[in-house]
Amino acid sequence: MNMLHTENNQLRDIAAARLAPLTPANDPWDPIRSIRKFGRHRLTSVEMTVTNLCNMRCEHCAVGDTLVMAEPDKIPLQDMIRRLDEVEHLETISITGGEPTFSGSTVRDYMVPLLKYARSRGIRSQINSNVTLPYSRYEQLAPYLDVMHISFNYTNADEFHQIGFAKAGHSVSRDAAARLYDRMIDNARRLSEAGVLVSAESMINYRTHDKIDEIHRLIVEMGCQRHEVHPMYPSSFAKDLPVITREQMRRSIELLLSARNPDVWMLFGTLPFYRCSDDKGERELLSRLAKEPNVTVRNDPDGRNRLNVNLFSGEVFVTDFSDVPSFGNIADSRLDDLFDRWLQHPLAEGVNCHCPAASCCGPNLLVKDMYYKDVNFHMRSAILE
Ligand code: SF4
Repeated sequence: MNMLHTENNQLRDIAAARLAPLTPANDPWDPIRSIRKFGRHRLTSVEMTVTNLCNMRCEHCAVGDTLVMAEPDKIPLQDMIRRLDEVEHLETISITGGEPTFSGSTVRDYMVPLLKYARSRGIRSQINSNVTLPYSRYEQLAPYLDVMHISFNYTNADEFHQIGFAKAGHSVSRDAAARLYDRMIDNARRLSEAGVLVSAESMINYRTHDKIDEIHRLIVEMGCQRHEVHPMYPSSFAKDLPVITREQMRRSIELLLSARNPDVWMLFGTLPFYRCSDDKGERELLSRLAKEPNVTVRNDPDGRNRLNVNLFSGEVFVTDFSDVPSFGNIADSRLDDLFDRWLQHPLAEGVNCHCPAASCCGPNLLVKDMYYKDVNFHMRSAILE
């Protein structure tokens, strides 16, 4: 074991000792926590988009239409940190892209300092990455990072090749893709061994819904401590993909619950099912999810306890992939003020319901738009059997 490794592990252990471990009972990204604590939504989470570059072009990519081949300079790091400093109740930060580690200088000059800032303030951090680049990129981040969030929607390297380069616009050889697939698995294992919580996200979509159990098995084999599952809602980049029904989503979740490894934390998010549903089957599925050990259903953070800041423009958005235009800029506004401005937005008000008995604080914006356009959630309430 080299000196750097030992020193890094010590730093991590000291920091981790100060913070409650991330567990199914302690998920600071869930906005239900702040609504319980403050009686209203509060900004506790800030996501930063640090790049629009990526080495992959996945068919389902939520931000695929913003990806570029070259990009301008970012705003100064200190401007971002000054705005983070002002967020009174900040509990988590997330760093996203593109592939955030695509450029070594972004890792060194933005990501490492942001993670160190989070550690010094005693808040949690997450990076969304495909972890297909050389491990040296991730090794610099590991000592200060809590959650490495990766996508995993494959049962083998061939599927990774088909899905991961579907929109590349040029041919990527099967061998080149297979090397990245192997590196992704190796990097995920190494990050887990380095003490980072590696959380693999799978989408339930037309490709995965009937083999989600097999995908889960591979994620467990990779050493991931958490499997995160979200239905796929086609963003503009992925709008040509086939859509599956809510019934197919429900059956896929049931398949997964029956086959899962009960020792691994399963986190479900952005589900299109609510306890106020007229559909008994959907309510029963939610009851089952609530009872299963090591299973959580996270309320949607976007616009509830989280905002997204684009580090090229300073513009602030409700999420990195939403069609909702920016509603302010950190150049001239505090993030807490922008969050309060967002809460007044008619779109925010339309999903701003809360049923404490069901631990639910309303639907995701995309889900409401897709399945519940004409539903007034303020006229509904949870049906508890
Ligand atoms: S909080 Fe809203 S979405 Fe959730 S159960 Fe209540 S009314 Fe339905």
